[in-house]
Amino acid sequence: MSNLKLCQGPKCHTYSTQDRLKGMKGSKTYQTRRRSRLIYDEFCDTRCYNDWFSKYGTQAVNHFGRLKEVKHLTEDNAWTKRYRWEYERRNGEAEHYYLNTITNEQRPLTEAQYNDNNYTLNERG
Ligand SMILES: [Zn+2]
Repeated sequence: MSNLKLCQGPKCHTYSTQDRLKGMKGSKTYQTRRRSRLIYDEFCDTRCYNDWFSKYGTQAVNHFGRLKEVKHLTEDNAWTKRYRWEYERRNGEAEHYYLNTITNEQRPLTEAQYNDNNYTLNERG
């Protein structure tokens, strides 16, 4: 009938806001919110999102894979695209550039390279 989706917050219906109170006089109930747009497609607000994570977060992490060792970002993959505003540029510095956040090396980028999500100096894989 509608494209409204139910908030997945486990306690959504327990929050006594006027918009949740529905039904005929004498049989009103607080109800889970329905929305066409939800946070992360699942929650009506951050309180419901936090409720869900408090209740299920550890189970979710265990289910999808708990990180068991430190991850490392190496020089080979530390390139990030940056943009320099006009007032920040000196001596003809590039407007768009790559910055290696470990070595601080900079390499100029064309605007097309900057906007190309597939263009990278980082190693693939
Ligand atoms: Zn909710």
